[in-house]
Amino acid sequence: MTAKVIDGKAFAANVRAQVATHVTRLKEVNGLTPGLAVVLVGEDPASEVYVRNKGKQTVEVGMNSYEHKLPADTSEEDLLALIAKLNADPAVHGILVQLPLPGHLDSDLVINSINPAKDVDGFHISNVGLLGTGQKSMVPCTPLGCLMMLRDHHGSLSGLNAVVVGRSNIVGKPMAQLLLADSCTVTIAHSRTKDLAAVCRGADILVAAVGRPEMIPGDWVKPGATVIDVGINRIERDGKKKLVGDVEYGSAAEVAGAITPVPGGVGPMTIACLLANTLTACCRAHGLPEPEGLTA
Ligand code: NAP
Repeated sequence: MTAKVIDGKAFAANVRAQVATHVTRLKEVNGLTPGLAVVLVGEDPASEVYVRNKGKQTVEVGMNSYEHKLPADTSEEDLLALIAKLNADPAVHGILVQLPLPGHLDSDLVINSINPAKDVDGFHISNVGLLGTGQKSMVPCTPLGCLMMLRDHHGSLSGLNAVVVGRSNIVGKPMAQLLLADSCTVTIAHSRTKDLAAVCRGADILVAAVGRPEMIPGDWVKPGATVIDVGINRIERDGKKKLVGDVEYGSAAEVAGAITPVPGGVGPMTIACLLANTLTACCRAHGLPEPEGLTA
């Protein structure tokens, strides 16, 4: 079997187009423009690239983008004061603090100071609790993107065996909660899991979020399974720099029913879902119906 390739780039373009259509309607009918504020502390080059891309794509879908670049030695007090200002600003519907923060800043404290209704990353403890108890929440962007692609491919996920490899707060745990909410039977695997190969072989849906290049070979994949590869690993092969996932794509694609490539799979969905979350936050803030198909 050769797997169907789930084209995350095309999927993300479609999500952004849907967001843009909603934004146009919000402007015309309701006189509203969703706004996303992104806060970057310090000069981490990778974070700067992410923030630039987020700003660009925010503007492209017709939203307002507010970028706040603060020096690396910004005090916690000053950062919290900025967040309080953004929390109170009615033009700002979404707030994202780019992680990682410099070491002297307490990330948990900073994230938990964001108004949960504006927490478009879905990392605030209230949103984590709401998601875990099946209530309306802001959902972390990367797992939301994975869920959208899985729903699109399978229709219903009910009753499927899902294995999520990785238990981070930003990917593994929320991914597992979303799959559980869609009635999958969910296993969360991690570095202490015994016989990971056997656990993976039981998966109808295998989500890899580990951060280890090509750790999961094709013979860990159940024939016909759907493989979602969240991993982004920079490696050097044959003297060339390359991006690879956590799954060994070539061998897995021979066995799986469907698979996301790296690059071009989960990656592009993350910013698209950030825009979708900002739109959702704006609709909720104004008591308007939520955009269909763009939330969990
Ligand atoms: P993380 O916080 O480092 O978590 C990695 C998880 O993998 C941990 O739970 C760890 O288990 C587990 N793990 C490590 N080695 C393992 C092994 N040998 N066997 C089984 N499990 C193992 O990483 P993350 O932030 O979730 O990110 C995971 C990957 O996704 C990275 O490559 C990251 O770059 C990528 N990512 C991509 C996007 C995107 O937009 N596409 C977004 C976020 C992250 P323990 O808990 O036991 O240590």
